[in-house]
Amino acid sequence: MSDVRVSIVVPTYNERDNLEELFDRIARSLSGYDYEIIIVDDDSPDRTWERAMELSNKYPVRVIRRTDEKGLSSAVIRGFREASGDVFVVMDADLQHPPEKIPELLRAIEEGADIAIASRYVRGGGVKNWYWYRKLISRGAILVGRVALPKIRNVKDPVSGFFALRREVVEGVELNPVGFKILMEILIKGNYRKVVEVPFTFGLRKAGESKLSGKTIFNYIKHVIRLMRWEGELDRIIKFSIVGLSGVLVNEGFLWLFVRKFGINKMIANVIATELAILNNFTWNDLWTFKDLRSVPFYRRIIRFHIAALMGAAVQLAIYGGLLYAGVDYLLANLVGIGFSFIVRFLFNRNVTWG
Ligand code: UDP
Ligand code: MG
Repeated sequence: MSDVRVSIVVPTYNERDNLEELFDRIARSLSGYDYEIIIVDDDSPDRTWERAMELSNKYPVRVIRRTDEKGLSSAVIRGFREASGDVFVVMDADLQHPPEKIPELLRAIEEGADIAIASRYVRGGGVKNWYWYRKLISRGAILVGRVALPKIRNVKDPVSGFFALRREVVEGVELNPVGFKILMEILIKGNYRKVVEVPFTFGLRKAGESKLSGKTIFNYIKHVIRLMRWEGELDRIIKFSIVGLSGVLVNEGFLWLFVRKFGINKMIANVIATELAILNNFTWNDLWTFKDLRSVPFYRRIIRFHIAALMGAAVQLAIYGGLLYAGVDYLLANLVGIGFSFIVRFLFNRNVTWG
């Protein structure tokens, strides 16, 4: 990969004591490569930018000291803008991202990947010294992101802060600088075909301390919702809800008609009315909510839609029963059951019926 230039973008905030080892290990790992290191520092009180400047005598480092703007993602975006390479690498300064992995990421790019992620959650990857609840939060956050955003459902670690990509992936793409998870933003908005994940172990911080905290979780959820809107997934949920409400009307209307006008037995009338409501909902979801996702044959879609309805009913009843048993008020129990049924039906239909 000797004819390719690499730009390594490193956002920093109070990382001065990590820089020398970071640069040294990058230099050892990338000997033979044409590369630059771009430090984007948010005017750190410990004068990280100054230390980086000193070290630029010895290493190919460019320093951007930002005083007008703050934030991890906007720092990375700024780094991209300044980068002269054909391939960009993003990593942290605190050596939790081992520089020795960079050549593997570059090799994956060389072999055809557009984005190569250093991943904690593929076989061979991991995290060092995390408490179980830290792992749980990380795993849970990733699960939420992958479920909410079907485009990234095959990526095991879409929130990694350590990755490489071809310049074209982000060139001309408007990335939102809010939030910490710039990779997820890129995976949703970037221009790419192939993503490869390379296992790595998220190590221990060398010096200084972490800047990420509880607020991050809240920000992450906001970020996921924003990306859902961008993807049109939020629109789908709204459409799915409207169709569901129309189904209630169809159900009630036919029930009334069958019982009052045709004198049909109330149990049988309910079964027929429910089926008609399911067919009503299927039709509108097929023509409207998921109209761009009709890849499975019609008969399979309609069968799967019925399976979703059955699963939803089962979940609703189970939760209702469970909560009643736990002493919860029956109306509240029903509401919670309906809520979960909605989630189950939406997810199944989104990913399987119109998957
Ligand atoms: N960072 C930054 N600006 C911020 C927060 C973090 O530039 O507002 C940098 C930080 O210096 C480090 C990387 O982003 O290089 C990851 O931050 P940190 O190690 O605090 O996060 P953690 O690894 O604990 O999740
Ligand atoms: Mg860190």
